[in-house]
Amino acid sequence: MILPKIRVLRSHGRQAIEDLDAVLLTEEFRGRPELTFTEDTTEAEHAQAICPTGAFTADPLTLDLGRCLFCGACARVAPRNVRFTNDYRIGSPTREGLVLHAGDTRVAFDPEQVRPEIRRCFGRALQLREVSAGGDASVEMELNATGNVNFDLGRFGIGFTASPRHADGVVVSGPITANMAEALEICYDAVAEPKILVMCGTEACSGGLFAESRALDRSFLDSHRPDLWLPGAPTHPMIYIDGLRTLLGHKKRI
Ligand code: SF4
Repeated sequence: MILPKIRVLRSHGRQAIEDLDAVLLTEEFRGRPELTFTEDTTEAEHAQAICPTGAFTADPLTLDLGRCLFCGACARVAPRNVRFTNDYRIGSPTREGLVLHAGDTRVAFDPEQVRPEIRRCFGRALQLREVSAGGDASVEMELNATGNVNFDLGRFGIGFTASPRHADGVVVSGPITANMAEALEICYDAVAEPKILVMCGTEACSGGLFAESRALDRSFLDSHRPDLWLPGAPTHPMIYIDGLRTLLGHKKRI
């Protein structure tokens, strides 16, 4: 009975991506934008006017990845000022680190901003509880994909667990609605110290399209400092994998 199963496994071949650090996403993928200053700010001002979340500003020329929906509208009306690259290394240990300026060629990841206990306690194994705080299931689906046969994040000892009692930290997706604010607080409180907090997706980072909505309650962030900010609408599995592995010291951002 086992032989046919072995035959099937062999016919599938190796499905996991062997070297995740060498992954290149397609040219169409919108990752880290590059900003270029021009004396004539007409196009940039147009881009600022149509940006749905206020992520793009013409003066000074900046793009806040934590508010960006990666819709590409700014690059279409101001191609001389904005160009999206396929670089998925866009996670940051600080919220300010998500704001890009003209001439920036990477999203900086300063290891000094990472609490030492994170690498000491979780460098070799990390289990996280995911809380969808009003999310639309897009980020959540991408997070599920990190454990699939292709990305196989479990090979690095990183995964999700159902109970916060068994978790080393919390991953938040969604803009944090008022209805989920208390549940998020209870869940985070149930995780033992030391613990980490990851904000995953543009909605989690800033509220996204719903930032001004009365239905949100983001007071959770007044009392808890996230360790990792991961933009994306939704967040590609490689953004999550790269961000977490850089946070844990498995790799450096250069
Ligand atoms: S890609 Fe981002 S910055 Fe540009 S218009 Fe869309 S939301 Fe705004």
